[in-house]
Amino acid sequence: MASTSAVSHRSALSIAQRQFDATAEALGLDDSLRCILREVKRELVVHFPVEMDDGSFRVFTGFRVQHNIARGPAKGGLRFHPSLSLDDVRALAMYMTWKSAVVELPFGGAKGGVICDPRELSKTELERMTRRFTTEISLIVGQDRDIPAPDLGTGPQVMAWIMDTLSMHAGYSVPASVTGKPTSIGGSEGRYTATGRGLATVTIEAMRDRGLDPSGATVAVQGFGKVGAVSAELLRAAGMNVVAVSDSSGGCYRATGLDLDALRTLKEEGGHVTDYGAADRISNDELLTLDVDVLVPAAIEAQITLRNADRVRAKVIAEGANAPMDPEADAILNDRGALILPDILANAGGVVVSYFEWVQDLQAYFWAAGEVNARLKEVMVRSYHQVHSRAEQDKVSLRDAALRIAVQTVAEATEVRGVYP
Ligand code: NAD
Repeated sequence: MASTSAVSHRSALSIAQRQFDATAEALGLDDSLRCILREVKRELVVHFPVEMDDGSFRVFTGFRVQHNIARGPAKGGLRFHPSLSLDDVRALAMYMTWKSAVVELPFGGAKGGVICDPRELSKTELERMTRRFTTEISLIVGQDRDIPAPDLGTGPQVMAWIMDTLSMHAGYSVPASVTGKPTSIGGSEGRYTATGRGLATVTIEAMRDRGLDPSGATVAVQGFGKVGAVSAELLRAAGMNVVAVSDSSGGCYRATGLDLDALRTLKEEGGHVTDYGAADRISNDELLTLDVDVLVPAAIEAQITLRNADRVRAKVIAEGANAPMDPEADAILNDRGALILPDILANAGGVVVSYFEWVQDLQAYFWAAGEVNARLKEVMVRSYHQVHSRAEQDKVSLRDAALRIAVQTVAEATEVRGVYP
């Protein structure tokens, strides 16, 4: 399936700003706060050369954007993806500010990445590219300033190269400069599974609240990556039946349930979910419109739009990806009575355990997996109920309620700090 349309990509920031404007209006924020919060604070664009394995040089373009740091250091992922744009990164940085505020972390929001397809680079090219990009953005990142993490196309190995590069510059190890690292260099237990675990926790809690029985519920997951695969496994562990998954090659479907272990092995060996023989092949568009109880979009932005919203049949949509649904589709599905678990709540588990990792690194004192997972569950359950109560009180959707809590929290911090000088 083609990725997002050029139109939806160009409008990522305008969608985020429109959501902010509506939230600011509902909260009655004054104009000066509105104009501060609707723009990003700082953005760095870098063009840098990397030597390829054949001796040639290629110039890559990368970004690091910080939206707001009123509540603490900036925090947000790094994405390696061929269609990344500055506009996307600005929007995603803004979402990170709201996400940290919804789950009450002392962080601001940032995002970054490099325009590239990491699958087309050899391991040594990827390492050189990552180290040079890290050097370029080291002007604004660091353990007290802005702490990167994994996102689409990046993972623990890339985070390890970033941590090593920043440490080489400092002359000593700085583990708290990045999260999502391997545990051997200061990563946290439970970080890799955190986003999927948080999503599964919120989904189950919300379904019970709505009187829906998770046991036996059917599930389709778009994007069988770090977020999607773990979400699928944990929803299955909770008694659900995962009938469809997909990746960039397309999807597979089996009404009696998929063998997720076999699919994970296939992906680890470099294959695609469409290579899995024991299921029917479907397109990503078919996956999104399957008649399932729970749909987890966990790939990229703008997958549920006006184009397909009236065909989406899931009762519950748990947003693993950031901004997988545009506002028009959100309105259609809300009117239809779907339970939509918004990204800034549903996928916040990753940044929660990134925060735990940063705290552990700063203290040089590490927690067992059980403790990390228990604390994550506590934060996710508490945050879900706060958002749910606000939604009931204001008679709005969970997305609007989450945005209201987040914007109010960040606005208060921005206002009380005042404007320098
Ligand atoms: P990933 O690279 O590990 O996995 C992404 C998956 O999506 C891959 O299987 C890829 O093949 C698939 N994909 C890419 N384009 C697709 C398309 N057009 N249609 C269907 N599948 C497609 O990335 P990830 O870390 O799992 O991130 C997925 C989403 O979750 C992103 O939107 C990211 O911003 C968001 N997110 C990630 C984290 C995290 O901790 N990793 C936290 C919060 C939100």
